[in-house]
Amino acid sequence: MNADAQREAVYGAPPEMLEVRDDLTPMLSQYADLCAEHDDAVVLFQVGDFYEAFCGAAEAVARTCEVTLTQREDSTGTWPMAGIPIDNAAGYLERLLDAGYRVALAEQVEDAEEASGLVDRAVTQLITPGTVVDEELLDAGRATYLGAVARGGGDVESRDSDAEDDADTYGLAVVDVSTGECLVTGADRALALEELERLAPAELVVGPDCDLPDLSFDPMETPFEPGAFDADAARETLSAYAPRPDAVVESDAELRAVGAALAYAEYAQGDSTLEYVTRVTRFDPREFLQLDATAIRSLELFESRSARAGSTLFSVLDETACALGRRRLEAWLRRPLVDRDEIEARLDAVDALCDGALARADLREHLSSVYDLERLVARVSRERADARDLRSLKTTLDRVPKVREALAGTGSDLLADLRDSLDELEDVRDLVGDAIVSDPPQEITEGGVIADGFDAELDDIRGTAEAGREWVSNLEAREQERTGIDSLEVGYNQVHGYYIEVTNPNLDRVPDDYRRRQTLKNSERFYTPELKEREDEILRASDRADALEYDLFCEVRADVATESARIQAVADALADLDVLRTLADVAVANDYARPEFHAAGPTDEHGGIHIDGGRHPVVERAQDEFVPNPADLPRGSVALVTGPNMSGKSTYMRQVALGCVLAQVGSFVPAASARLPVLDRVFTRIGASDDIAGGQSTFMREMSELTEILHNATGDSLVLLDEVGRGTSTADGLAIARAATEFLHDEVGATTLFATHYHDLTDAADDREGVFNLHFTAARRDGEVTFLHSVADGPSSSSYGVEVAQLAGVPASVVARARDLVDETDPESANDTEGDGVAAANGEVAEAAEDGTLAAYVDGLENGHRESESPNRATATTATAEPTPELEAVAEALREADLADTTPLEALNLLSDLKGKLE
Ligand code: ADP
Ligand code: MG
Repeated sequence: MNADAQREAVYGAPPEMLEVRDDLTPMLSQYADLCAEHDDAVVLFQVGDFYEAFCGAAEAVARTCEVTLTQREDSTGTWPMAGIPIDNAAGYLERLLDAGYRVALAEQVEDAEEASGLVDRAVTQLITPGTVVDEELLDAGRATYLGAVARGGGDVESRDSDAEDDADTYGLAVVDVSTGECLVTGADRALALEELERLAPAELVVGPDCDLPDLSFDPMETPFEPGAFDADAARETLSAYAPRPDAVVESDAELRAVGAALAYAEYAQGDSTLEYVTRVTRFDPREFLQLDATAIRSLELFESRSARAGSTLFSVLDETACALGRRRLEAWLRRPLVDRDEIEARLDAVDALCDGALARADLREHLSSVYDLERLVARVSRERADARDLRSLKTTLDRVPKVREALAGTGSDLLADLRDSLDELEDVRDLVGDAIVSDPPQEITEGGVIADGFDAELDDIRGTAEAGREWVSNLEAREQERTGIDSLEVGYNQVHGYYIEVTNPNLDRVPDDYRRRQTLKNSERFYTPELKEREDEILRASDRADALEYDLFCEVRADVATESARIQAVADALADLDVLRTLADVAVANDYARPEFHAAGPTDEHGGIHIDGGRHPVVERAQDEFVPNPADLPRGSVALVTGPNMSGKSTYMRQVALGCVLAQVGSFVPAASARLPVLDRVFTRIGASDDIAGGQSTFMREMSELTEILHNATGDSLVLLDEVGRGTSTADGLAIARAATEFLHDEVGATTLFATHYHDLTDAADDREGVFNLHFTAARRDGEVTFLHSVADGPSSSSYGVEVAQLAGVPASVVARARDLVDETDPESANDTEGDGVAAANGEVAEAAEDGTLAAYVDGLENGHRESESPNRATATTATAEPTPELEAVAEALREADLADTTPLEALNLLSDLKGKLE
């Protein structure tokens, strides 16, 4: 990538400086050293109020940030230079990050005025996509993770023992440097990768020997010392965060991953332990409903696939009152539960809040004035919080008793637990309340921060300064009286300090002890030894006060930092509460119903998904009228959904899945009622023609995704297949669709919804009890089609393709001619017209289809993985239609193919072989 090439000249010490290394001025020499030490980032070098970059880096900064490229000249040369103002650096830093750069801030670490000679500078912070902490660079509603992946020998039992996979385990850890959240998990490679996609860290450090495929998101991949992935080094790192490191993780790979993630986070934050990472949480992906990246995308949980911007499940649900809640809602949606008790506990809480309109409104009000406690605490621990941050902390803590009060009348165990865990933190609140003035300035070094009465010494010093000022303010009257000069004035200016001003006509009356300070046009300014003394006293006192205030502030901040864990626990509870009240608000506003789950224990065929009056939570909000539809899907059944384009198939399937996901999040669902199973995974695959975002080998991807489902789905999974098989010719597509349907039904037993334009597929319902047809209807009125959007039993009778063409504005004469052509064909094969160009695209197979041998074609396939079934069926059917040797060969090849165990590439090759045989 040329960005990398560009970076060559941008990172590290500038070569042109190295050529005159020994002659460089001390400052540039320091710059070159820091660049050499931090050669994985653009070093921004503080010079007064600016961050400067030189040479190649200057050019990159100038270009990226659109600032002027200037020059610095000295005896050794002329150096290109570009600077960004420190005061509003955030916007520029963001541009650099967006352009793919990493940034190291080399700040002045001693007071420029106190330094003798060169000011000491050090890299205090590394700014990268995964390690940003500046509020302005962060998205309030989303966690920004830095991730580490490591590979290790396996202690974790392999999930999929009958797959021919290796015993490799992968560890995955993420750290949110802005909040201190640290998660670690481990699994086999496939599952770990899925989890990685789900967490989608902004930046990734990859351990030795890890084999990562192309990811569906785009993290910055950061090279980091492989040593950090060493088990011993990792254990050492982790021990600063967990007293017994080995008790936190369950495998070597997990240990390596979390050790490396923390080590890198420490490195980025200036090589110190991150005090605010108070908990390292290990989870097992299997303890949650698994939604892989494809499912998250196609269900549009967080990102919309269509032009309707912002229409995602998250946007419909996001009635959160604070940033804590918003991030938590996202986390819950990404990881719905599978533990019945936990789900019911959330549902009970939502239920209770639905009933308590008053409590809900109160909670909303109080939570909306809650600051981002997690990030506040992290700033406090990092010693980056200012006095305003501490006041924000107090404002937030002041809300806690009110939140508790609001919860008093609500009956649910979870709400009661959350209420109990709301520590009012009176000590912290009082400390900040007593120490910090109520409206402190942004600067913490210039006084005005610490409240009166907090520290006796400070009060004393302030008293001295105050007395001095008082003395000065009375001086004017005293001197007027002493000298008899009524026009005498006492004043103050920055340069000369206090003075006594006497106009020229009165100069003869000036007493002996007046010393001249300054001569103006019409007057003279004087001071007296006593005034000078007082002035020094005042200055000394206020300098001392400022210094003492700063020390006191740091002490208070450090005291607060020691309570990080307690504060984080409160943040945690507030976040949960905000989500629960949000779910209740949404349920009430949109008329959702509480889902019921089938009783625990082994589920039989009576399990399954039963929804009355179900709606699509996002689509129903986007349009005036939405037609509710029921869903009755016995456990392990396959529903084939047919109907014209735009009739509502995709919407229907997704609303079923979204209902299940919402229920397992602990939310009510958009339906009149719902009885649901607890699912282990939801798979959704959208066929190529429906995949707007597609582009590269879509059919290939479709097939590899299908393979993944066939391998990984279980009887507890829900599978949505939307127009799968469309990326290839009709006959091939149909064959694959049919084979996949049968496999899902016979072998996997996953509850499946399959929207298809292959009307021939609907025959699959004839010979399998668990396969049934649903269709969407349209009404013809005066030759026009209106979609009813309502689901009915049985297969769709016609494709309505021509009418849809008419709706789309195809000229009337073309529509009329098409209608004639449809009428000429027999009604059975008219069904195929929705497929893409049968005859043209696939001449011989299509002909075969017409003379009835397609059935043979499919039957052969069917028997391919159902060898136990009577072989007579295939022969019986083929007997009626004299198979050619070519067809025989094709059927044989298909019979031998085990689709469940075929890679996409193999599938493509197979298809190409088959075509070859027919040609
Ligand atoms: P298909 O997958 O059958 O082509 P879609 O599910 O994409 O159709 O639906 C097409 C459009 O029809 C949707 O964008 C939506 O506006 C509308 N629609 C779908 N289902 C319903 C419904 N139940 N009630 C009202 N409008 C609906
Ligand atoms: Mg569709």
